[in-house]
Amino acid sequence: MPPAPPRRIAAVDHDACDECGLCLPLCPPAAIRLTRRGLAVDAKTCTGCVKCIAPCPVGALAMVDA
Ligand code: SF4
Ligand code: SF4
Repeated sequence: MPPAPPRRIAAVDHDACDECGLCLPLCPPAAIRLTRRGLAVDAKTCTGCVKCIAPCPVGALAMVDA
């Protein structure tokens, strides 16, 4: 059996993110949080639905291998 493809999750580019907060309510499982150290995506909670990717006005979110 071939190995399962890697799980894809959202990751934030901290240099690009201006912490506008727009993506937070767009995440169905609430995997995105604003912390003292900037935006954080909880890798365990992210389902890879990509709903947060396109709406980010500065393109700070991208899908990566988990
Ligand atoms: S929408 Fe983009 S810029 Fe705004 S908080 Fe989310 S990742 Fe950062
Ligand atoms: S890919 Fe989906 S589940 Fe993951 S952080 Fe973005 S909106 Fe949330």
